[in-house]
Amino acid sequence: MQGSAAGLAYRGRTASIGFAHGPFVRVDAGTHGERVAGALAEEALALRKAIDAASGQIAELAAVAGGEAAQILEFQVALLEDEDFLQAIFASIGQGAAADVAWRSALDEQIADYESAEDEYLKARSSDLADLRDRVINILRGGEGQAPKIPGGSVVCADDLPPSRFLEIDWSAGGGLALLRGSPTSHVAMLARARGIPMVVQLGAIPEVGVTALLDGEGATLELDPNAEQLRLFEKRREIHRKSRASARAILRRPTASWRGERIKLLINIQRVEELDHADAQYADGIGLMRTEFLLTDRGGLPDEETQFRAYDAVLRWAERRPVTIRTFDAGGDKPVPGFTIDGEANPFLGVRGLRLCLARPEIFIIQLRALARAAVRGNLKVMFPMVTAPDELEAGRKLFAEVVQRLQAEGIAAMLPELGIMVEVPAAALAIASFKAAFFSIGSNDLAQYIFACDRSNGALASLVNPLHPAVLELIARTAEHGRRSGISVSLCGDMASDPRCLSALLNCGLRELSVNASALAQIKQTIDRLSSGAGLG
Ligand code: PEP
Ligand code: MG
Repeated sequence: MQGSAAGLAYRGRTASIGFAHGPFVRVDAGTHGERVAGALAEEALALRKAIDAASGQIAELAAVAGGEAAQILEFQVALLEDEDFLQAIFASIGQGAAADVAWRSALDEQIADYESAEDEYLKARSSDLADLRDRVINILRGGEGQAPKIPGGSVVCADDLPPSRFLEIDWSAGGGLALLRGSPTSHVAMLARARGIPMVVQLGAIPEVGVTALLDGEGATLELDPNAEQLRLFEKRREIHRKSRASARAILRRPTASWRGERIKLLINIQRVEELDHADAQYADGIGLMRTEFLLTDRGGLPDEETQFRAYDAVLRWAERRPVTIRTFDAGGDKPVPGFTIDGEANPFLGVRGLRLCLARPEIFIIQLRALARAAVRGNLKVMFPMVTAPDELEAGRKLFAEVVQRLQAEGIAAMLPELGIMVEVPAAALAIASFKAAFFSIGSNDLAQYIFACDRSNGALASLVNPLHPAVLELIARTAEHGRRSGISVSLCGDMASDPRCLSALLNCGLRELSVNASALAQIKQTIDRLSSGAGLG
């Protein structure tokens, strides 16, 4: 924190870029009011009614929000529909516990479980559960379940904020979100980015007071009751940001990007079919990475062949003749999947993940390969394997895939073997790149950096050691690009480095001419290429 005559400034971490200037509103989750317990039957009935009311409210929120937000809320609905879970709570009411006490203790137990998870994704779910706990308790205590209305355009400050509370706030007049804790990988951060709401997390302790606030999502600062000078500097930064965005969107519509006279292909990364609805996605040269493991974590367990085929086919239809690279399941590491990944590994990031796991569980892998082989006849499909260490793994995957195709054809089902490539994200693979008989390579800089620096990518305490522009990282990228150039094999990069304008010049200088970025970064990356080609630098 920095103090000044008037106006206190706090620094956190960026979760979503953008600027907000508005009333400072502190909203801390929690439940209010007391409740007098009734007889056993009354208590059970009260809880049932509160659960029904909460379900109705969440369903309404989901219907209004749609897309990813609705998927997040599904998690809460799933718990409210989980009769096994509810039965234990009703049993404790049957033994004399008050409805709110029984509900709270069951939810607190679940929240503690999720909070202790090492995986950031599961951790982030604990705030969804805390929100659900408070919503039902507020209804039981005679409240409406919803938080008080927040004036439009506010800088909302909370310890942490669950997605459902975020969705209840009217962001149509702008505003921003400042969290004392929180994480840039949480669901609420994902929603803020998708809606262009600036968000800063991990701000630490902040006084309850403050009338107005300035939130700078780029510089990751929050300024309370700013003085005239703070306000002037803030407005200047905001204006630069606004102009830069406007020109980026204009450049996005241009047909191609080029640098030093060479065409740069810009593709996008997706995790779900719905992400193709992003307004900028249409300007991409194709899909450079579809992370299919997110199909596995949705409700309903492992998806069957038909469900997978429909998802892959929908992406191919969207792309028309543009290339679509679908990556086979990269489960394990920070992406555990119940019933698929191996429990209790001491070092999951160094364990049986990615292609290693798929080869170890052919009964699951074959279903995905069948769906992919059927989709391959319907568009410009390429398939890539993640976490490949040795050429034998690629060959084992290819053999299994070829058998799957033969089998489908024997069954009279249209199918073909698509082009097969690999992710280059294990240093050994990058160093011995020429030994892989792959049709294409895609560099996974997130994992490549984690393994080069021996730093768990989800451990925030090590973040300062992981420098994507370190010569060790650039050396392996350049070697891979050089091998591709010499042998005529296409090489792209689909890790987060590609979406970061600060890394662009180094990547182009390493020899890369194909990048796969997040759809929300497409405009800015195209603009940066434009600036670099005109010699203007990053601006
Ligand atoms: C990577 O490792 O850079 C990558 C693109 O894959 P993921 O982030 O899904 O591990
Ligand atoms: Mg990876």
